[in-house]
Amino acid sequence: MLKLEHLVKDYYTGDEIVHAIRDLSVTFRDNEFVSILGPSGCGKTTLLNIIGGLDNYNSGNLIINGRSTRDYTDKDWDTYRNHRIGFVFQSYNLIMHQTVLQNVALSMALTDVPKEEREKRAAAALEKVGLKDQLNKKPTQMSGGQMQRVAIARALVNDPEILLADEPTGALDSHTSVQIMDLLKEIAQDRLVIMVTHNPELAQSYSTRIIRLKDGEIVSDSDPAADEEEVQNARGSLKKPSMKFRTALSLSFNNLLTKKGRTLLTAFAGSIGIIGIGLIMSLSNGMQGYIDRVEQDTMTSYPISIEDNTMDMSVLMSAMMTGSDEEKQPYDGTVRSRAFADKLLGSIADTEKNNLTAFRKYLQSPEGKELKETASAIEYNYGITMHVYNEHAQGDKLVTVSPNGLMEELGMSDMISLRNQFMGGMSSSMPGSEVWKALPAEDSLRDQEYELLDGRWPESEEEVMLEVDENGEISDFTLYSLGLMNQSELVQNYRDLQAQKTDEIEPGDPVSFASDELLGMEFTLVPNSDLYRKVGDIWVNESGDEEFVADAVKEDGRTLKIAGIMKPKETSLGTPHTMGGVWYDRSLETWLRDEGKNSDIVKEQMEHKDINVFTGRKFGDSTELSAADLTPEQQMVLASMSQQELMDYMASYNDAANATYDSNLAKLGIYDEDTPTSIELYADTFEDKEKIGDLITVYNEQQQAEGNDANVISYNDTVGAMMSGVSDIINIISYVLMAFVGISLVVSSIMIGIITYISVLERVKEIGILRAMGASKRDVSNVFNAETFIIGLLSGLLGVGLTVLLNIPISLVIQKVTGVAGIARMPVAGGVILVLVELVLTMVAGLIPAQMAARKDPVQALRSE
Ligand code: ADP
Ligand code: MG
Repeated sequence: MLKLEHLVKDYYTGDEIVHAIRDLSVTFRDNEFVSILGPSGCGKTTLLNIIGGLDNYNSGNLIINGRSTRDYTDKDWDTYRNHRIGFVFQSYNLIMHQTVLQNVALSMALTDVPKEEREKRAAAALEKVGLKDQLNKKPTQMSGGQMQRVAIARALVNDPEILLADEPTGALDSHTSVQIMDLLKEIAQDRLVIMVTHNPELAQSYSTRIIRLKDGEIVSDSDPAADEEEVQNARGSLKKPSMKFRTALSLSFNNLLTKKGRTLLTAFAGSIGIIGIGLIMSLSNGMQGYIDRVEQDTMTSYPISIEDNTMDMSVLMSAMMTGSDEEKQPYDGTVRSRAFADKLLGSIADTEKNNLTAFRKYLQSPEGKELKETASAIEYNYGITMHVYNEHAQGDKLVTVSPNGLMEELGMSDMISLRNQFMGGMSSSMPGSEVWKALPAEDSLRDQEYELLDGRWPESEEEVMLEVDENGEISDFTLYSLGLMNQSELVQNYRDLQAQKTDEIEPGDPVSFASDELLGMEFTLVPNSDLYRKVGDIWVNESGDEEFVADAVKEDGRTLKIAGIMKPKETSLGTPHTMGGVWYDRSLETWLRDEGKNSDIVKEQMEHKDINVFTGRKFGDSTELSAADLTPEQQMVLASMSQQELMDYMASYNDAANATYDSNLAKLGIYDEDTPTSIELYADTFEDKEKIGDLITVYNEQQQAEGNDANVISYNDTVGAMMSGVSDIINIISYVLMAFVGISLVVSSIMIGIITYISVLERVKEIGILRAMGASKRDVSNVFNAETFIIGLLSGLLGVGLTVLLNIPISLVIQKVTGVAGIARMPVAGGVILVLVELVLTMVAGLIPAQMAARKDPVQALRSE
């Protein structure tokens, strides 16, 4: 069955040629115990390795079961070694980090014998060699004889046709040698055993045939086999060995377990790059989250607000900035003027009118659908002034809640109106002087901004909300204004202050209210039209006349009740403390309008659209009241008036001198739904806000194209521009940092490659053993790929795990410094990606060393220590 014909093997070392085997021909029977004897260096091991398929020959032929091996592929050799050959070496060649049982089961693991079957057969083989109770020992815990038994068990477990033993007793004492020889003799009963030995006595007493070698040639053969004796003993097609990746993993895992410290250090070193990237990722993720929250809050606090009259803030800005676009020339002996005051005035004069009627119509039309849907909410304001009083607060004295009478009393109204003029559209979102305000028309917007603390949301126009801050406080200013604290005390203090009688100032005592004192508290709204009295042929504003107002409150007032208490939702932006106030439902405006429409004054104004009901003159005819212009009838009426009445009459008249039809109706609480005084477009994100801006531009271009230049809308959006820059900067910084850390990732991968290479050097012996048992080159490289897989996975997980841990103190420190919590937060997807990246990088780094391992010559590998 096994036949060598004129076999030649030469080794080339440098220029020298060593003829290890020269023209050797021999035939082995299927079943005999052959001993090969010969001096050291005569080529015994070389012969055995060639027979075992571990080494190749230069010329001649090796015929296995009648088939020449000249055309054997690598795969054929792997299969041959795995199934037909069992090797026993002088130095045992066991894998030290595997148990005895695992060592024996390994060659079966190369073919896919199920694990249980593998262990059963391995245990049976070990029982045969007398090691039944030592299955789970490591080879290091055994004697030489025991290790050689393990090696024999391993050689037998696949039931090979040929057992090759290279000086199996060379390292054993004579007593143990005899035991091993007994074992081999028994094994030789039903297969071919070829044993190389130094010991002629053992050969004599145990083997059936002795071949003596000298200088690579046979010098004697005690029982040469005739060619005719050759029997065909093919076992049919044999399963090609191939290691499962799981086996490779378990081999590498056990190996790594033997050097836990180094593995951990390697994984940690590899994870440093990951930690760096992970931290940056966490921070930028947290920052982005924070910015998103700020964005959302900013968006709700600062909508795009389009006023019917708007001032171009950019002109104002450029007037204040020195480095404007204009070309400047350096000082050349002349001093020139630079426009500042003129520009400032220009910008105020340059107030643009926005046609909100047309814009509102557009928003309601199908063409404006995209704009309408991009906005998270749209609020229309109609600039209605409500006249609200508190009858019950301070005995008989009526407190004017809206328009805020306190400012007037303190003489601060000029200051407020000046500020409002300067802040333009932003004034609506600033804590203002008014304590009577409109809730958002859309519930979604209301819920986004406010949280209900007590009671319920308004269910009709009669119900209003009391707003407190996050601590349940209301500013005393608001309480004074609402009449919940004594206004006259504050006014007295103010007077004392002005008179420089500072020691007489007594701060008001702090007050508190139980929620049920506040819930149900009443205010009275007087329709605007009921505050005018017809004097002669014109209507006089009597809102300054206490008695008249008191009567109007009693007769025409509408009682409003506090239905609930709310607070602004907490935002990440840390919006300024609200001053508190009362917020009415928008339906109250409708009620006010409908009520006004039935009044005589409004009917009269609407009937005579060209005549100003407050002056009796045509609109635009803006002459002030003077004695010369008075009609006889007027003269009579005036003559009968008291001094005070006369002054009120004059003030009311002069106040209305420059009015228009629209402004008169607005004053009377009448508004046209189609004509808002401002439109607020809310967005959830900057992207949406930018899109809204773009869509308004589209609208403007469309209007211009149609020749409706007057319909072009202009608005100011300074906050938006500022915030979007911040977001960009953070992105840029993150990318730059990630690039830096990416470099460290590459460096750490290279390091892992080097460590894998060292591991290859350390495991050379194991590579040889695996090859001897039939492992293919690919299996060997898989063992190392498995090793880098484990290290890569470990360092990826370690890196991400450490990042998550580090995020805790980092977040705490940032919170301590900035007050913003949870800034360092690893995104889940990012973590998974990082582990994968580390895994891939590490495996790539290990590819070259793994290839090197696969290409190792098995004979050389076995010879190494
Ligand atoms: P034995 O096992 O009989 O002691 P070997 O078969 O190991 O002898 O070696 C036979 C001859 O081949 C020796 O001279 C040895 O030096 C030489 N030899 C073996 N392997 C190599 C090798 N890889 N490179 C060079 N020479 C080798
Ligand atoms: Mg030898």
